Amino acid sequence: MTAPTRWLTAEQLGPAFDDGGPIVLVESTAVFRRRPTHRQKAHLYLTALRHRARELGERVTFVQASSFRAALQDAGLTGEHLEAIDPPSWAARRLVRELGASILPSRGFVTNESDFADWAAGRKPTQLVMDRFYREVRERTGILMTPAGPEGGQFSFDADNRQPPPKGAATLGLPAPWQPVEDDIDAEVRAELDGLEAEGVRFLGRDGPRLFAATRAEALAALDDFVETRLGDFGPYEDAMMLGDDTMAHARLSVPMNLGLLHPLEVVERVVAEYAAGRAPLNSVEGLVRQLIGWRDWVWHLYWHLGPDYTRRSNALAAHEPLPAHWWALDGSATDARCLSHTLDTVGGTGYAHHIPRLMVLGNAALQRGYDPAELTSWFQGAFVDGTPWVMPANVVGMSQWADGGVVATKPYAAGGAYIQRMSDFCGSCRFNPKVRVGPDACPFTAGYWAFLDRVEPSIRGNHRMAQPLAGLRRLADREQVVQQERARGAL
Ligand SMILES: Cc1cc2nc3c(=O)[nH]c(=O)nc-3n(C[C@H](O)[C@H](O)[C@H](O)COP(=O)(O)OP(=O)(O)OC[C@H]3O[C@@H](n4cnc5c(N)ncnc54)[C@H](O)[C@@H]3O)c2cc1C
Ligand code: SF4
Repeated sequence: MTAPTRWLTAEQLGPAFDDGGPIVLVESTAVFRRRPTHRQKAHLYLTALRHRARELGERVTFVQASSFRAALQDAGLTGEHLEAIDPPSWAARRLVRELGASILPSRGFVTNESDFADWAAGRKPTQLVMDRFYREVRERTGILMTPAGPEGGQFSFDADNRQPPPKGAATLGLPAPWQPVEDDIDAEVRAELDGLEAEGVRFLGRDGPRLFAATRAEALAALDDFVETRLGDFGPYEDAMMLGDDTMAHARLSVPMNLGLLHPLEVVERVVAEYAAGRAPLNSVEGLVRQLIGWRDWVWHLYWHLGPDYTRRSNALAAHEPLPAHWWALDGSATDARCLSHTLDTVGGTGYAHHIPRLMVLGNAALQRGYDPAELTSWFQGAFVDGTPWVMPANVVGMSQWADGGVVATKPYAAGGAYIQRMSDFCGSCRFNPKVRVGPDACPFTAGYWAFLDRVEPSIRGNHRMAQPLAGLRRLADREQVVQQERARGAL
């Protein structure tokens, strides 16, 4: 009998997913008609698939089709003829099972799904906190561990990693981040996407030069560049935001990792080796290790643990406002809030923003204004170049919107303008004042924070971590005025 052909999805393009046998890759542009997608994300996915097909040469069957199911069935790849590495979405997992494929365990993460299931078994939903998971992974893998305990005497150096942006500087002063050199495949993809637009397919954001790695060689080059130019500053400025520097010291490696081109353990081993050689500080190295073996794996496992209906059924704060049209248009000019306007424009131009603008500007605005969490999830998935189904539930629904009522995050991540003022240089050029909550200068995040608490008070009254903010709300002399003002202001 001939060996089964392995279907690799667009998230399984690196060497970790290839054991040398025959491979089928399926490209479908039909998804762009169904789901609004950033133009640069569409470009990345198509170019990554086509580069991989070229690399694999005669070993690959490359199919362009409107449906994955039809493509595999038409090629006779069902039952014993088809093999899959358990794919990274509920929909693709259903498909390979319905086609009768033989299925290998998933790859591309540090821990496996049965380890997580063992860890989660017997814990209450609210005890699945990331910090505990991260400690256990450190202990189990020995990463950054000594015989006496965690390297440096503590598991987390987060407290050292909250520096505001340097005063008086426009940027962190680092070299521009690594960028690929486009080739003939990129040009061919760009022309095809132009053609789709001419046929009426509506993409999000603007086209632009490709900024992220889409091949294995590019992924390794981007990793080298990050380690050489940014790793040292990653920790201290992890949470800071600057108008003139959208990347700061972040890695921009989520795209190649989510495409399967780079394994998170490769990144971990590389940065730990830099620390061991005395070339990188522990707070930066531990900070990145926590993102990878903590947050990234945890978010992945929660996708499966929370189930396929989690997003649809989660709306604990009864948030039903539609997402404003300018969010879908990624048009920052429609809002005067400098932080939000800048972030929307940045995402429109690049499909990227680092973690804090995602959580504390976009997520925070949506939480305060009561935007529908399911619609927000579709938006995040389409608008960001690294958006994948498995990333969304824990990050968007759970963490940023608290729509599950406390499974993923112990309290809502709502913050007023004071946080944004402390951690960014946005407020200086804004027409609002982060210290003012009533009147024409009232900051929509500061006033919005109190209006949010006022709206959701009945749902969060029992949460002891919200006792202090709610006590503050009760003491607010102008509470009613703030609430009326923000109701009149409406969407942001
Ligand atoms: C509301 C919201 C939406 C997000 N959407 C996405 C998304 O669509 N795709 C995505 O990959 N990440 C997402 N994240 C997580 C995180 O913001 C991005 O992974 C990160 O900003 C990517 O940029 P970077 O590679 O420069 O990251 P760095 O800050 O340099 O971090 C290093 C790596 O750690 C991993 N990581 C860190 N935190 C997380 C996390 N919470 N979830 C998953 N991976 C993590 C990423 O692979 C990232 O590349 C989201 C977070 C929030 C709060
Ligand atoms: S003043 Fe308020 S709206 Fe303006 S940038 Fe600061 S936090 Fe954002």
